[in-house]
Amino acid sequence: MTVKAVWFDLDDTLLWDERSVREALQAAALLAAERTGADPEALTAAVERETQALYESYETYPFTQMIGINRFEALWARFEDTEHPIFARLREIAPAYRQEAWTRALRAVGVDDPGLGAELAGRFVEERRRRPYLFEDALPTLDQLRPRYGLLLLTNGSPSLQREKLAGVPELASYFDHIVISGSFGEGKPSPRLFRHAMALHGVSAEETVMVGDRLTTDVLGAGSVGMRSVWVNRRGLPRGEDIVPTWEIRSLRELPALLERA
Ligand SMILES: [Mg+2]
Repeated sequence: MTVKAVWFDLDDTLLWDERSVREALQAAALLAAERTGADPEALTAAVERETQALYESYETYPFTQMIGINRFEALWARFEDTEHPIFARLREIAPAYRQEAWTRALRAVGVDDPGLGAELAGRFVEERRRRPYLFEDALPTLDQLRPRYGLLLLTNGSPSLQREKLAGVPELASYFDHIVISGSFGEGKPSPRLFRHAMALHGVSAEETVMVGDRLTTDVLGAGSVGMRSVWVNRRGLPRGEDIVPTWEIRSLRELPALLERA
């Protein structure tokens, strides 16, 4: 069936979040290296481990998993969200989570200094905020698609954080007829209820819509659950198992316009 609407995931599909996080972690680790002589690579690896263990230990973890808020986002999100009472709990937990993650990581590389842990936690927030990266193929592709298709952004996350990310690249939001954030709806991708909610909002059927995203377990699986076709954006050429199968797979968004015309 002819495609009428194209839906996009945000993080690591249009916005290069992984690079922003990696660089911000490195910048904070370099500050620690200057102060203490600690190996910045070992510290970065340690904070990746410690954030994982700590983040999973909070009672908020099932909620953050369901909405789709990862441990690096929790290192800088303001959690100024009112849609669900758990956001207030996340706002309470966040300062201790950040300081403790960095303090434990420092300890793992032989530095016992909670004060420095707190400083690194703050440095990461600043460094992450100043790095809103768009992939180079995002805007040229959206320019090509916008005259021909309805466009909707379907992103998992804390509404205030996702809006802050969008504010960092002001030209992006105006491409979309609607912006749907899982934390506002109350369930994240791959929930079929979220996809149906977005279809009702956009006034489209699953058959005439294509979901474009970088994650098989959320974007591709969720689309498939409502009978919607999907494009897996596999920028790094990762191998794919047989359990979740996208309709199409691309390496660059630049492949999209021609693909959609043939669909
Ligand atoms: Mg993504």
